[in-house]
Amino acid sequence: MTDKPEHIFCFSKPYIIVREMEGPSIVILKEEAKAFTGKKITGISGNTKVEKERLLNQKITGLKSWGKHFIVCFDNFFVRIHFLMYGSYRINERKENPRLSLKFQKGEFNFYNCSIKIVDGDFYSEYDEEVDVMSDIWNEKKALRSLKKITKKRQVCDALLDQSIFAGVGNIIKNEILYRIKIHPESFVTSLPSKKLKEVVQQARLYSFDFYRWKKKYELKKHWLAYKQKTCLRCNIPFVRTYCGNPSRLTFYCSNCQKLYR
Ligand SMILES: [Zn+2]
Repeated sequence: MTDKPEHIFCFSKPYIIVREMEGPSIVILKEEAKAFTGKKITGISGNTKVEKERLLNQKITGLKSWGKHFIVCFDNFFVRIHFLMYGSYRINERKENPRLSLKFQKGEFNFYNCSIKIVDGDFYSEYDEEVDVMSDIWNEKKALRSLKKITKKRQVCDALLDQSIFAGVGNIIKNEILYRIKIHPESFVTSLPSKKLKEVVQQARLYSFDFYRWKKKYELKKHWLAYKQKTCLRCNIPFVRTYCGNPSRLTFYCSNCQKLYR
């Protein structure tokens, strides 16, 4: 069983549902779109409210990813795309109602149901790549310091989704990491022993790269051990399926082997 993108039909045209747009998926998108680097935009459309005409006749100088943001760079400005909950994209194919559609002499790049922003300046001055779990310069010590700075009773399920500490970690990655390292999602960060804090930080990176490799092979879902699963394979008992955190997010955990630190 693989989880190849599923083709469904809408308005009699096929389109692909893209899910799991967490950090690793944005890196995959960046790789898939590589051919557009250096290419000039010859046509533009879409229902976004941003001043998209500004992109016409501009050359793409680079494509970047930061956490769950996909960034299209131009001279002196960039376009930031965030896929939110239901965002998707198509390369050299299309479906109705793009938020933004970029046309090139050869090919097109379409974005749907996403948030789009044009930002003046350059990528490097706006983003801290050290907090991006997929970045070449991810800084494990910095993440650990950020966790240790937390003084309030903050739950680990929320801390893992904090994009200023773990940019790119989304709800699937959160669930899988906490199961892997046997921590109850409602544990307080301040109650976790040093060793466990270190595991949280290390797994944020390691699991994200596992996600990346599995997704590229279309086999991500078969590796899920907690997210959307019914039974804990370690204890052979049903998972708890609930909403945890603030804001609350769908969470799966085993009440037997995931320890609550309070
Ligand atoms: Zn268990």
